[in-house]
Amino acid sequence: MIRIGVIGCGAIGKDHIRRLMDLVPGCTVVACSDYFVEAAKEVTKKYPDVKVYENPNDLIAAQEVDAVMITSIDSTHAAYVMEALKYGKQIFCEKPLALTAAECEEIMKAEMAHGKRLVQVGFMRRYDRGYAEMKRIITSGELGAPLMIHAAHRNVSQGDGFQTDMGITNVAIHELDICRWLLGDEYESAQVLKVRQSSLSTRGYDNPQIVLLETKSGARIDVEVQVADGYGYDIQCQVVCEKGTVNLPEPYTVYKRANATYQVPILTDWKDRFIEAYDIELTDWVNSLNQNGVPTGPSSWDGYAACVAADALIKSRGTGQFLKVEMIEKPEMYK
Ligand code: NAP
Repeated sequence: MIRIGVIGCGAIGKDHIRRLMDLVPGCTVVACSDYFVEAAKEVTKKYPDVKVYENPNDLIAAQEVDAVMITSIDSTHAAYVMEALKYGKQIFCEKPLALTAAECEEIMKAEMAHGKRLVQVGFMRRYDRGYAEMKRIITSGELGAPLMIHAAHRNVSQGDGFQTDMGITNVAIHELDICRWLLGDEYESAQVLKVRQSSLSTRGYDNPQIVLLETKSGARIDVEVQVADGYGYDIQCQVVCEKGTVNLPEPYTVYKRANATYQVPILTDWKDRFIEAYDIELTDWVNSLNQNGVPTGPSSWDGYAACVAADALIKSRGTGQFLKVEMIEKPEMYK
């Protein structure tokens, strides 16, 4: 039985606590913490046995916590991962692993000192049935080599404090992971473009942005990143291969015919769009810890690879140039 402490009791923190308590076998949440202590106390209304820690570092150090789940805001992830690694705890860190590749390198060094993997990163799309089937087809080779990916990541709106770079580090980070995973390839170069701006972007950040990537084998990727589309949470992905294409399926829905229309609802919340993927992701994490004592999902290396591309994209902003995506050699532990 894995005893988990959760840092960050906002939207996804609460959802993951529900998942771990009510759905995933072989684990229990024993502690939680949040910068905003009332958010942590809220958790105990439904789960009174969960202990609230005012200081997240005390939760990390607590004897009763075997594994730390980090679901606080992006800028806090790296420091909590490093603190949990000091104690050799198991760690599930929501994406991004850190805000920069340099921080990810520190994390990998600290993890490697333990001689085994301790960190899993919350790139849950790898557990989505649609993406998994796309990868199976691409990897089988039946469609020949993959040549291009056309992708779109569209959100309804963003809260206060959203900034242009978060379109990369917080939003497109999912595509930076899933595209290299789908292709089994690493990035060679990257560029972000500012295009005609939407009138819905009134809060001072770029929207839309277009992310362009080239892989080592020469495949090209374009990702439309919209953080205020005003209509839905809409994730699109098409991989163009030599002999055919594969498309990410639309989420399950019921079509309605009425009033001379054919209606297809579009989801607005990421929690609903990837609900099954999150369920499978956390079940798989807990199972792998119970069975082998090491996580088998996305690693610190995967968190690092996405951040290297994100660094290059941010640096390329306004230069009109593709910048090289330069990674360190992959350490043996992550091969
Ligand atoms: P959220 O609703 O804003 O929740 C974050 C919580 O962390 C808030 O309660 C916040 O408190 C708290 N917090 C802020 N600073 C903290 C600190 N230093 N220590 C502890 N807690 C702190 O955000 P969210 O949507 O749940 O996202 C949380 C994380 O999950 C983000 O990193 C996000 O990128 C990631 N995420 C991943 C996915 C996915 O698809 N995998 C989806 C959504 C989110 P205050 O409100 O007082 O700041």
